Amino acid sequence: GPPSPKKIKLNENESNKSSYMNGNNKFKISIQEQRTKLPVYDKKNKLLDLIRRNNTLIIMGETGSGKTTQIPQYINAAKLQNEGRIGITQPRRVAAVSIAMRVAQEYGNGQQVGDTVGYTVRFEDVTSKRTKIKYLTDGMLLREAMFDSLLMEYTVIILDEAHERTIHTDVLFGIVKTAQKVREAKNFAPLKILIMSATMDVDHFSKYFNDCQAVYLEGRTYPVNIFHTVRPHDDYQTACVATFFKIHREAPANQDVLIFLTGQEEIEAVAHQIRLLGKDPEVEGPPIRVCTLYAAQPSTQQMSVFNPSPENMRKVIVSTNIAETSVTITGIKYIIDCGMVKARTYHPATGLELLKVQRISQEQAWQRTGRAGRESEGTCYRLYTRSQFEMMQKSTIPEIQRANLTSVALQLLALDIHALFFDFMDKPPEDAITAAFEQLKLLGAIDSVESTALTPLGEQMVKFPLDPRFSKILLSAHNFGCLEEVLTVVSLLSVESILLSPPNKKEQANSVRQKFFSAFGDHVTLLNIYREFSNVGQNMRGWCHEHYINMRNILQAREVRCQLEDICRKSGMTISSCGSQMDQVRKCLLTGLFMNVAELHRDRQYITLDKRQVVSIHPSSVLHGQQPHFILFTEVVQTTKCYLRLLSTVDSDWLYEIAPDYMRTHSIKCTKDS
Ligand code: ADP
Ligand code: MG
Repeated sequence: GPPSPKKIKLNENESNKSSYMNGNNKFKISIQEQRTKLPVYDKKNKLLDLIRRNNTLIIMGETGSGKTTQIPQYINAAKLQNEGRIGITQPRRVAAVSIAMRVAQEYGNGQQVGDTVGYTVRFEDVTSKRTKIKYLTDGMLLREAMFDSLLMEYTVIILDEAHERTIHTDVLFGIVKTAQKVREAKNFAPLKILIMSATMDVDHFSKYFNDCQAVYLEGRTYPVNIFHTVRPHDDYQTACVATFFKIHREAPANQDVLIFLTGQEEIEAVAHQIRLLGKDPEVEGPPIRVCTLYAAQPSTQQMSVFNPSPENMRKVIVSTNIAETSVTITGIKYIIDCGMVKARTYHPATGLELLKVQRISQEQAWQRTGRAGRESEGTCYRLYTRSQFEMMQKSTIPEIQRANLTSVALQLLALDIHALFFDFMDKPPEDAITAAFEQLKLLGAIDSVESTALTPLGEQMVKFPLDPRFSKILLSAHNFGCLEEVLTVVSLLSVESILLSPPNKKEQANSVRQKFFSAFGDHVTLLNIYREFSNVGQNMRGWCHEHYINMRNILQAREVRCQLEDICRKSGMTISSCGSQMDQVRKCLLTGLFMNVAELHRDRQYITLDKRQVVSIHPSSVLHGQQPHFILFTEVVQTTKCYLRLLSTVDSDWLYEIAPDYMRTHSIKCTKDS
């Protein structure tokens, strides 16, 4: 039978009371009363009427007006979904999880997540037969579509945060549109589609959805004072901390601050500095409560950012762009915006997909600014100059036009659709589609680039919720007798880094982890760590602490590993181990990542074989400071240079053995002097 849903216990004390803050005054009001104060509340009947009358509807409204948390509840109370479910997509898993928890809490009556309200994100399903409202990531709904393209589980699908234009949401636009049409033609239960967002180009969306109707929910907003810096900052982290303490000295307690940064490392570093300086008796101002908000955090910790801070304290939230529009925290008076965001960008010309910290768009800057003006007037400090602002792009380019499309092309093929002929709202560049099909051919998922059918290997690849390159690695493991090891490596690559490197304890962390280091590189090093971790038994926490291992992330990797192993077993694969033959593991990695190899040249520079880009070894790698002739890399991070992360040494002979087709067009050009 199906696995029983996991349940998350909400804190009873908080389930029906929470506080509402307004400047210095704090009133205890019930959670139900809070709901009635949201801008959507007054529009409830009008909205329900529109939803009833339209099969497709666009709903636009200020962030924080109650769209995501309230509208599904209204629909459920009016039973508009009939026998089906209401599915609401979110681009980020943090948002899907924390919103589902909040909505379950609003239901009260001892309801837990997984009852009426549930969520599904990659590697985690918290729903049950009773679930009527299901929050899920757009990536998960797309995966569900691959197994049922008509999405019959749902009678209402809400594509939320549509303005973000993530690759998955963009593909879903086409999928739900087709599902709706086919269900109508076949006289199946109708599918209602709602497109929701903060700001969006309504005409563009409406035109795509057959000129559907759009409704605008007016929210309340208050003016926000904006300050730009006079000169550009090189070091926005330090600027964040300095700006925070400037606010902290002057502003009354309970006026909270929200800081936008780009990722976990930065956020933890700034949070640490604020905590540290906050303890300094010389620093004036009320006590500080520092909260962080980013993808790799445990759900309970995520929820705590929503708790109002005690009287006479100041809460500061250090967040990624998740707090831009996906979640709303009350009590924010000040914004500090670093002006940057971490985004994945693919360059068909260089063949590199980069995780890159880049400038936000003007639209994002305005969204961030607006977060200070929800309850009263606020202030926003932009850590960039006015002219830097003016040079930002007006709006964010849809991800589909700047990402590697291999995964999407594969998913569409599983639905019998060739990406070239898919009904995209905005078409991706044709050369990106071509590149995707070339990759799929090299991976063995299709026989030719014109092919519209998957090979048996391709069909196997679709079963894994992974990038096709990693699915390929798992599926190749049989040939190398190392599925046991490769499952571990792929799982560790699927979660945030398990290695902690606190800025002031880097050396210490490295020296205690030295015993795991492998001359073969980071993948084998990670494997060594995981192997020892699996054997520690009771004192897991102590062991993680001692070795500077992020326990949450490694436990998540273990969870991911279980699920991947399950898929492998169901596909009839045997879990065999190669023991200490690490060549097998590295060869196996090469079956999926042969396009990610760099060669050392005479001038001590690494150059990628694929498109001959100059790259360097990231300082975090165990291979940093060494110069192996050939390295396989997992990802590229661009800061001042292009850095390769998560590396393994490989043999050039293996390349010819494992990827002969690829090597016909990508020969090794130079040989190193010894
Ligand atoms: P929208 O989707 O229009 O941006 P939401 O429905 O996300 O708005 O938010 C409505 C309100 O619910 C916000 O004021 C927010 O503060 C509150 N809220 C959302 N999640 C939580 C939570 N976990 N804890 C407390 N309040 C929350
Ligand atoms: Mg929302």
